Amino acid sequence: MANSRSGSGSAIPFLDLRWTNALVHKEVATAWQKIMTHGKFLDGPEVDLFEQEFATYCGVAGCVGVANGTDALELILRSLDIGPGDEVIVPTNTFVATPEAVCAVGARPHFVDVRRDTLLMDEHTVREAINHATAAIILVHLFGQMVDYEEIIKLASKRGVLVIEDAAQAHGSTFSGRRAGAVGKAAAFSFYPGKNLGAMSNAGAVVSNDFELLSRIRSLANHGRDRKNRSHHILIGRNSRLDSLQAAVLSAKLRHLEDNNSRRISVMRTYRANLPKECVPLSVNKNASPVYHLAVVRVQDRLRASDALTSEGIGWGIHYPVPCHLQPAFSTYSRELPVAEEAAMHILSLPMSPNLTSAEIDRVCASLDIA
Ligand SMILES: *Cc1c(COP(=O)(O)O)cnc(C)c1O
Repeated sequence: MANSRSGSGSAIPFLDLRWTNALVHKEVATAWQKIMTHGKFLDGPEVDLFEQEFATYCGVAGCVGVANGTDALELILRSLDIGPGDEVIVPTNTFVATPEAVCAVGARPHFVDVRRDTLLMDEHTVREAINHATAAIILVHLFGQMVDYEEIIKLASKRGVLVIEDAAQAHGSTFSGRRAGAVGKAAAFSFYPGKNLGAMSNAGAVVSNDFELLSRIRSLANHGRDRKNRSHHILIGRNSRLDSLQAAVLSAKLRHLEDNNSRRISVMRTYRANLPKECVPLSVNKNASPVYHLAVVRVQDRLRASDALTSEGIGWGIHYPVPCHLQPAFSTYSRELPVAEEAAMHILSLPMSPNLTSAEIDRVCASLDIA
């Protein structure tokens, strides 16, 4: 949910993609000319190159580009033979794509509550949720901060449960020195245009240290093809490939990711220093270095705060207004998850773009000073 109606003063968008796109405009135009000439729109050298670069960036052995982040999650689950009869533990505070992927393979999402301070998955609720049907746990590194994964991974390995990462909001984020994408059996990334690393359409990737798994995913994402013989279909697959045009965009943008993430970190620092005391940013674990995909604060009177922003022409969002377990589509899997339910009434996402200026941040903070 996002709002960007403009009021008095110049508008501040919730997210400004024009600036990031301008950084790579020339390079992308040249690369796209080249792709239109060689004509390999789906299996071009741009795809191999980006896959190598992104695997190196994440600190993992390999990467397979796919069509989007939701497919990345689904393909990981499918490649691990997770399906009917299996349960997958998912935090309720995530984008619906996470439980959607679980249902798409025929498994059941087991929704768990989140920590009040970070709104991320909690080792204690995971411990309570694990049962004989649990096949996997999906760590969702939401808002740019990685989940405190160490105890969860220990617990999972003791119980013979797989750990998968949904890193769609955490490109470049670290926890205890490890990058998002490098802590689970496999990780799903989304390159939806608004993500920290975004394509110019839908795109996604799976990263892992397990080459066997990656090669199964590559085959599943390309109609179950045998790598050595294109007309041999060894698995019942589907069509979910990263295309060359988007791979070229992603390689160009990857070179700016570290700088853009630092800029987001400094935007958040300025917010923290200037926000009125009624607006409380989510906490950061002492071992985490978030990349602030979103700038989420808690406010008592959200309607008043969001109206104040709207009247100043400042964009805002709510991530997410309805936790997944309360969505009609997931009513079969509903349960009581009080922390997420309470938080959903009070969270507000402020404008967050790498190019947000101090003057703009001041205006956002001043608009919120309504007590
Ligand atoms: C964006 C997102 C996805 C889905 O990615 P798409 O590329 O849009 O399919 C999955 N999980 C989370 C947490 C996301 O933010």
